[in-house]
Amino acid sequence: MSTYTLPELPYDYAALEPHISGEILELHHDKHHAAYVKGANETLERIAEAREKGDFSSLVGLEKTLAFNVSGHVLHSLYWQNMSPDGGGRPEGELAEAINEHFGSFERFHAQMSAATTAVQGSGWGVLSYEPTSQRLIVEQVYDHHGNVGVGSVPLLAFDAWEHAYYLQYRNVRADFVKAMWEVVNWPDVAARYVAARAQHRSGD
Ligand code: MN
Repeated sequence: MSTYTLPELPYDYAALEPHISGEILELHHDKHHAAYVKGANETLERIAEAREKGDFSSLVGLEKTLAFNVSGHVLHSLYWQNMSPDGGGRPEGELAEAINEHFGSFERFHAQMSAATTAVQGSGWGVLSYEPTSQRLIVEQVYDHHGNVGVGSVPLLAFDAWEHAYYLQYRNVRADFVKAMWEVVNWPDVAARYVAARAQHRSGD
């Protein structure tokens, strides 16, 4: 039994054109995301084998591989939902108010999120997260899929800054891809995640 499964894309491969090409989306979902799902399931199996044998000599590497693949699966599953052919514009309601409160204005948040995504060294993500301990919105600059992240923060909006997310269309100009990302953001999805994250924290008080 597989613990992790590849979710269907909520739209056609070409649905986000011209901002993100169908070729990119097909490869990104069917090859890259699928590889993280496979890697997560295989790593769990290898850890189970180690438990059965009582041989944990490879555990350090396996734990790192598990974190990489599970986080890759989680962030890509979020990323597909964060985009929409009807996306773009600005958030409304509670999310818009929280962005103003915690970043000063939408423009300042936009600038920070763009900078975080554009300036990732190597492969990573720019992520808007809800940090439950402080009950704040923060931007995190994630390395690979799982580094440089605060424990417990809840990702709400993820911009993939790996070259596989843009190189076929935008070549080396990651900043142009980040500009295009803003045109496809599914704000109702991000807002619903914010409301759910806050409610979950309150119920856990
Ligand atoms: Mn990716």
